[in-house]
Amino acid sequence: MFVSRFWEKKKNNEQVYLPVEENNLDEIVGYKVAYIKDLKNLEFESLFSGSYFWADSFACPNNHTEPEEKCSCGFHSFATLKQALVEFSNWRQTVYLKVQNYGKVIIHQAGYRTETQVLDTIYYRKRCSKTLCYAETQAFGKNENIFRVLCLKHYKKFQKNKIESYTISQLRKLHPNIDYQMVITSKLMDHIKYLFVASFPLKD
Ligand SMILES: [Zn+2]
Ligand SMILES: [Zn+2]
Repeated sequence: MFVSRFWEKKKNNEQVYLPVEENNLDEIVGYKVAYIKDLKNLEFESLFSGSYFWADSFACPNNHTEPEEKCSCGFHSFATLKQALVEFSNWRQTVYLKVQNYGKVIIHQAGYRTETQVLDTIYYRKRCSKTLCYAETQAFGKNENIFRVLCLKHYKKFQKNKIESYTISQLRKLHPNIDYQMVITSKLMDHIKYLFVASFPLKD
């Protein structure tokens, strides 16, 4: 793959241009971790700063017309899923996203900064986010300005209380171009309340 070969060459922190060739544009896939702010219009809240929509174009606070090497502007994404999973496991209530990057792309040591970003897939947690509920996710509901994953029982409670919520199948119809994928997070710390390391009680 062109992208990874280029990547291996640059082990220092220097940022480099990826020469744009028609046939490698589709390969610049990045991963992001975010909160869902608006499910109807698919707006996401970045873990670090700002928000963006499912398909969005670049804006720079320093008025650059495209991502600049000496700035931090552009849409940020990790180059590998592994990097995104570290953040995903550290921040509850987040989803992780697969995005396609277009326009001017800057490769740096942690991933990409790009001019245009289009969402491909939303990966959500398998277990309902309500306390002590371990049922499988079937929906999203709004809670403290971000959307959390819910089981069917908790989705029904949200509906009853007229809190904005959607089942995954409603979302698939609402956003036919976006893929929704459930991910097993049992290895992550979402639902671990206590971790005990105990010695086995020995009798004399
Ligand atoms: Zn800039
Ligand atoms: Zn639940």
